[in-house]
Amino acid sequence: MKRLGLGSGMQARFVLAMGGAMLVVVAILAVLLGRQAASQREVTRLSGTVIHELFDRSMRSRGETMARELADALSNPLYYNDLEQVGALVRNVSRQRAVGYVLVFDAKGRLLHDGSVAVPDYGRAMSDPLAAKAVAAKAALVQESPKVLENSMPIMVGNQRLGGVRVGISLKEVQVLEAQASQTLAQRLEQVGTRHLGWLLLMLALLVAIGVAVVLYVQRTLVTPIRGLAMAARQIEAGDYQVPLRENHRDDEVGELVRAFARMRDAIARHDREVRHMAYTDALTGLTNRLAFRETLDHRLMAARASGHQLALLFADMDDFKRVNDTLGHEAGDEALLQFVQRISEAVSAAGGDEALLARFGGDEFVILLAEGDVAAQARELADLLVRELGKPLRVQGRELFLGASIGVTLFPDDAADATTLLKNGDIAMYQAKMAGKNCHRYYSRAMDHAVERRVHMEQELRGAWERGELRLAYQPIFRTRDRRMVGVEVLLRWQHPTLGTIPPSVFIEVAEQSGLIEVIGPKVLRAACMEAAQWPRSGDGEGMFVSVNVSPRQLRGGELPDLVAQCLHESGLPASRLHLELTETAVIGDEMLAAQLLDKLHRTGVKVWLDDFGTGFSGLSHLRQVPVDGVKIDKSFVADMQRDPDDLALTTAIIAMAHALGITVVAEGIEQEVQFDLLSQRGCDLAQGYWLSHPITATAVVQMIESGA
Ligand code: C2E
Ligand code: CA
Ligand code: CA
Repeated sequence: MKRLGLGSGMQARFVLAMGGAMLVVVAILAVLLGRQAASQREVTRLSGTVIHELFDRSMRSRGETMARELADALSNPLYYNDLEQVGALVRNVSRQRAVGYVLVFDAKGRLLHDGSVAVPDYGRAMSDPLAAKAVAAKAALVQESPKVLENSMPIMVGNQRLGGVRVGISLKEVQVLEAQASQTLAQRLEQVGTRHLGWLLLMLALLVAIGVAVVLYVQRTLVTPIRGLAMAARQIEAGDYQVPLRENHRDDEVGELVRAFARMRDAIARHDREVRHMAYTDALTGLTNRLAFRETLDHRLMAARASGHQLALLFADMDDFKRVNDTLGHEAGDEALLQFVQRISEAVSAAGGDEALLARFGGDEFVILLAEGDVAAQARELADLLVRELGKPLRVQGRELFLGASIGVTLFPDDAADATTLLKNGDIAMYQAKMAGKNCHRYYSRAMDHAVERRVHMEQELRGAWERGELRLAYQPIFRTRDRRMVGVEVLLRWQHPTLGTIPPSVFIEVAEQSGLIEVIGPKVLRAACMEAAQWPRSGDGEGMFVSVNVSPRQLRGGELPDLVAQCLHESGLPASRLHLELTETAVIGDEMLAAQLLDKLHRTGVKVWLDDFGTGFSGLSHLRQVPVDGVKIDKSFVADMQRDPDDLALTTAIIAMAHALGITVVAEGIEQEVQFDLLSQRGCDLAQGYWLSHPITATAVVQMIESGA
């Protein structure tokens, strides 16, 4: 509201100023008019005096002239006493304006004629107050009474005075004439005044017109553009950079201002785009980031709600990416990630449609939004394609990495109605794909919510499990292929949960690793296994059974493992040669220097180190040369595929040959059939482990087996 006042305020102020100026002009005009009226009055007064003087003078001279002329004209008729002629002359003068009376008298002052027909006072001496002086006067005489101005003149013939004539001018009559003249003058003056006023008013009107024109001009050239700018500024402030700024070619300051404003708008828009770009894209991959994705998702959800469309979200998480980072370093991690992104992008453009949006959510987490067409079908196709493409090995720094991806799929509106829940569901589904063995995809289902809850629950339960005696050790015998005699056991952890029943390590070891609990449980397993194995009798040929303990990569981190091993050996009295540690490949490769140091330290305690799950990770055969291990355990997936896949058989054969060349023991695990055992023993595999030979058993059963001389 306040802002709105700005534009109109300026205009109002301007109109006010203009009005003020007008008022001043009107005041000046009023003063002028007043002055004019006053001067008119002055003129009238002055001219009254002048007229009066003029009249007075002219009256006097006229009176004198009339008297003198009449006296001259009367001398003859009077001489001859021609009264008729005298009457004619007298009447002639009497008739003139303002002449009050004309009296002709004889030398003795007796009236001879007064212009009337009868002359009633003929021969009588004149008795009026002015008569005496007039009769006595020897020359022209002027007398004045309140009513009359009288000129008298003696009438002479030669030196003889015949009489005289008196011409009386009526002052009242003169005054009337004077008044008439004054009135006429006043009228003229008023006419002039009126004309003057007309001009003044015309000028005033002109001035007002100019004022209005100026206001309009200012409004058009200043107020309107400035208001436009203020409006545009407000829109820009609100984030709308598309505001049209009227094209202008004015070369004045306002034009320059508008152009500068347009440039500023463009600069802000550009800046905004850049900032947005920075804020909305992932620096490493150039993909949309979580923030931008979230915004787009909200928009698409709104549109989908309005149109009744379906949306699909795919969560893709690189399997074992952390291992790459941990073992090969961050540079390799980034390289792997970029290749991964490349493949996802290709898959998305192949199966996701044009409108698909791919975003990087976190380290190795990607989300794909499908919003066009039959998204459910597209999602299925894309998920399959992604699993297939991402399952192919990556080449990073000259190594082949088998990573794969776990994919969670969730649909709108089937699974959730809002963005937050959808994202959570996608994450849950992805997690379930991981739990299901990785490198696969899973659709979200409500049951998964419970699975997640269970997982959180499980972590809490696992915390005190060892103390409550719910965790125990199982031992799976390991046999020498040559004579199929039991030479050792692998220790496998079991969780007997009071309500959930037996929970397999494939489920709870991961929880323990992710929560860090394995760093507490691992040492306990090691100590217990050593204590147990130290009690076991020697076998028939006098050799002690070895016990092989799985060690989590997390247990290697602190570098305390060698000390722990030494301590356990010392406490239990188990000979070091009878303890084997199973490390996964990923724990020892990567930083080979560090791995070599660690293995060196472990060897110095006298224990043997085996590489577990060999073949599933990154280490090629050549890698074995650099890592001084005592044995490798060929992963059960190779053993399982050996019969079907000649490549696997060839690889297994190569591993055995290579390991032997390096003096490394080869163990095959997961032997479920006799053929497998035969194939492996033919190829010189040293040790074998698997359900076909023996399931994991209890410690008591192990002792029994030893004593029975199996
Ligand atoms: P692993 O180290 O590869 O252990 C071998 C797994 O293969 C065991 O599963 C064993 O029961 C199973 N197995 C043995 N013979 C066969 C066979 O013929 N066919 C098939 N299909 N499987 C066979 P388990 O006990 O479920 O353990 C799973 C994984 O849990 C282990 O894999 C190991 O990585 C981990 N694990 C178990 N106990 C521990 C432990 O105490 N510490 C650590 N860090 N990890 C453990
Ligand atoms: Ca193992
Ligand atoms: Ca294994």
